[in-house]
Amino acid sequence: MDKKLIYFFGEGKAEGDASDEMIKLLGNKGGQLQEMTKMGLPVPPGFTITTDVCDYYFEHGGQLPEGLIEQVRANMNRLEKVTGYEIGDFKRDPLLVSARSGAAVSMPGMMETILNIGLTDKCVDAYIERHGNKEQPKKFILDCQRRLYEMFGQNVYGIEREKFRKIFDGLKEEAGVRDYTLLTSSHLQTVITKYQQLYRENGKELPQDPFQQLIDAIKAIEESAMGEKARNYRKAEGLPEKVWTGVNIQTMVYGNENTTDCGTGVGFTRDPSTGIRDERNPYGEFLLSSQGEDVVSGSRNVFPISHMKQAVPQAYDELMKVCDILERSTGRVQDYEYTVWRGKLYMLQTRNGKLTGRANVRSSYDMVREGLIDVKDAVLRVTPTNLEQLLHKMIDYEAMKRDGVELDNIVINRGGAGVAASPGGGIGRAVFDVKAALEYKARGEPVILCRLETNPTDYPGMIVSEAVATARGGKTSHAAVVARNKGIPCAVGTGVDIDEENRRITYPNNKGETVIINEGDYISVDGNTGKILNYRAKLTQPNPDDLDLQNFLHLLYPVAKMRVYANANDSSEAARALQFGAEGIGLARTEYMFLEDKIEGENRQLAIQSWMLAEEEAIKLKALERLEQMQKRDFGEMYSVMQDKPIIIRLLDYPLHELLSGAEAHLDELSEVTKLHQEHLKRRIEDYHETNPMLGHRSVRLGITHPEIYRMQVRAILSAAKEFNNSTDRKHITLHIEIPLVCLVNEVKNMEQLVREEAEKVGFNRGGYSSKGDNRYRLGIMYELSGASFEADNLTRVSDFASFGTNDLTQTTMGWSREDGSATFLPTYVSQRIVDEDPFVTIDKDGPVAKAMAHAVLLAKVAKTDYEFGICGEHAADPASLEVCYGIGLSNVSPAPNQVPIAWLKSAQLSLTKEYGSMLSEYAAKVSTSFSKFMKTANKVVC
Ligand code: ADP
Ligand code: MG
Ligand code: MG
Repeated sequence: MDKKLIYFFGEGKAEGDASDEMIKLLGNKGGQLQEMTKMGLPVPPGFTITTDVCDYYFEHGGQLPEGLIEQVRANMNRLEKVTGYEIGDFKRDPLLVSARSGAAVSMPGMMETILNIGLTDKCVDAYIERHGNKEQPKKFILDCQRRLYEMFGQNVYGIEREKFRKIFDGLKEEAGVRDYTLLTSSHLQTVITKYQQLYRENGKELPQDPFQQLIDAIKAIEESAMGEKARNYRKAEGLPEKVWTGVNIQTMVYGNENTTDCGTGVGFTRDPSTGIRDERNPYGEFLLSSQGEDVVSGSRNVFPISHMKQAVPQAYDELMKVCDILERSTGRVQDYEYTVWRGKLYMLQTRNGKLTGRANVRSSYDMVREGLIDVKDAVLRVTPTNLEQLLHKMIDYEAMKRDGVELDNIVINRGGAGVAASPGGGIGRAVFDVKAALEYKARGEPVILCRLETNPTDYPGMIVSEAVATARGGKTSHAAVVARNKGIPCAVGTGVDIDEENRRITYPNNKGETVIINEGDYISVDGNTGKILNYRAKLTQPNPDDLDLQNFLHLLYPVAKMRVYANANDSSEAARALQFGAEGIGLARTEYMFLEDKIEGENRQLAIQSWMLAEEEAIKLKALERLEQMQKRDFGEMYSVMQDKPIIIRLLDYPLHELLSGAEAHLDELSEVTKLHQEHLKRRIEDYHETNPMLGHRSVRLGITHPEIYRMQVRAILSAAKEFNNSTDRKHITLHIEIPLVCLVNEVKNMEQLVREEAEKVGFNRGGYSSKGDNRYRLGIMYELSGASFEADNLTRVSDFASFGTNDLTQTTMGWSREDGSATFLPTYVSQRIVDEDPFVTIDKDGPVAKAMAHAVLLAKVAKTDYEFGICGEHAADPASLEVCYGIGLSNVSPAPNQVPIAWLKSAQLSLTKEYGSMLSEYAAKVSTSFSKFMKTANKVVC
């Protein structure tokens, strides 16, 4: 096989790079090492064995491809030339290498690494002798050797990690030290002897041919690509079943050589929780005198990277420069690993950092400001889930205060313990293993997974948890990384006595008493402080004033073609909508104004019900007058919040009988007001009963049969607007009055006259925009019946704007009841792929609802080119449905206030990547092709 199986990197040159193609061939770690080398960054030289080799290996029952061994040998020779060291050399310091896995997709910790390969017993002995048997060098070389024994034994021979750990921990205990760097060379010698014995018990020994060590290591790494750990991870992450790894063979640098100017570290160029770049205190950890994963294993106390300033100042300065260069070239926050050997920096890895939603939002905005990336990059790299995390729930400490709960009484990890690993607050039942987590969850119970520390086998339990808490570990521990990635609140390093075996937490409270929390007890975790609370807390809603959110939203506003309004039914909702960036109110429902009192004792229900039930005109009128005053006040409050921003107010849409719900409970009051007997009232209530109220006496039909109620609403809307306009020198409001559930042109004509008559009384004219002394309103209609779509040209001629109510439109187009459909046949429809998604969650872009919408917009645009459509409801916050809205060129979308940011994001992203209104032209083309085909056949038939 002459195929190039190996790519070399070293001395500023590399055969590969970090292009997408090369990453596929070399794996991400390999590609990045090659790229960093090319950029002139200090990377120990080495070479990458391609992922093709791994593919071959598995397709040929564990055989390496022909020619690989020769290519490895040739590249080792090259490495020897570049470094000046030789493998197996015992007269001088030998060349040692690491063998490191790395696939195209990152699978942190899933595959293997072996360090110090090439260190034979003979090399060790010779080294000690060359250094005059002095303690320090002896300790160093034995430390390298024991690490090789550990990693080789585990990864090549499959000897359990625990067995090595037991020997090592046992010796530390015997020596009375926690920190292994305090072990003497003779301790280490004992450890190695015991390791050798362990090998023998398993019928193995460490090959004393250094090249054999290397080949065995390479095979073990190929093997790990299909190891159980890696396969389970891929399954859980939804990655393909087979992902091939590259193998990186790289010259060793020794962070463990001494205690003064050698060490290893890991870091992020910006804080992966917050996205903040802190120049004085960079995010990450450094550990003097260490090698490999020591820094993240939690076995010794680590220091912040800033400690390097004193210990290894030159390396620190260089590291900061490297961070800069990496960010500039990738335009991404980098997650890097490095080693300092004899005061000099070596970069061992870089990759795009996994960030929390907040960190991605914040760093994307900052990078635009710093000129590292452009707005398009920033907007496209933030996901709806990212933003949702920003709108995270938090532990409500104010509520606790109000409830008289003292924090000190409920915090389990008092004092300094606890690391804030992933933001947000979670509340749930304490569970101590995956099995329990899944069982509770299956019963619909919220859970919090508590572990000493987590590893990949805990993953399925973590992702169903409201929050995760661990006793050990730091910001880069497994629990922290996974939780951040998944947006799960997480506290690590809490130091709490989490007893996995007995499924409980034991802790001394502030009075010194021992408290026990058992499995199933409610606890809360604060991922923003790293604290666990023995308390079932409350959570706060997200904060719209969040600066990271606001900054990012300001990137979106100028880009988004489809504008974002919000649904808001009163002034406080309107205020929240504005804070979240809404440019108007796309739907103000007036039903609640009939049912919910704003001021105590208003008794709005009594008013509307007595209007409906009374038989005497005067009583009816009085009830309506009361309602008019209250609604006028409600509207006035909304106007003063929204000022001149558009507000679309929909006239009463409820089925009449729903307004009577609860009437039976206060018949005495009703009887008094209406002057009717209770028995008679009961009959009157029954008269309103309908079999199918959603398709019955509601909406515009109500406006036609009971015009006085719509007239009252129009007067309230416009007279409040007039008062507002008279009171302000600023821009005036142009009212948008909307008629629900129309289908027939005559319905709209009828409403047009009704509204016009009332408007004239108040002094409002139809169309255009209000200005001083000239008050204007516009008349709109809602498309909630697909029949209306067929009439859209005619409906457009008699109205000024429209919006889709896609919940009802879905019900009536497909004839599905939202409530009944989802509960009964929908699961079967989904499992048999009759539909891909619940149509009430996502509008299918090829489905009938999307077509009904496209048809309406198409006919409307022909009738009036500047006629505007919006959409209101659940679909307006669903990213896939928003794609449909954008495709048919809607002017605005109107979700709930909290969802406004998601809609802005999606609209901006679509504006940068897709053609606005393209589905409309596709639909038009399809219809016209069918039409011309039809004309041809029709001609034939006629002739
Ligand atoms: P992972 O993919 O699990 O992060 P790595 O291949 O990055 O595994 O190896 C883990 C650690 O081993 C690195 O972070 C680094 O500290 C150490 N290491 C790997 N190669 C070398 C080397 N050539 N010299 C010194 N340390 C190394
Ligand atoms: Mg690792
Ligand atoms: Mg690594």
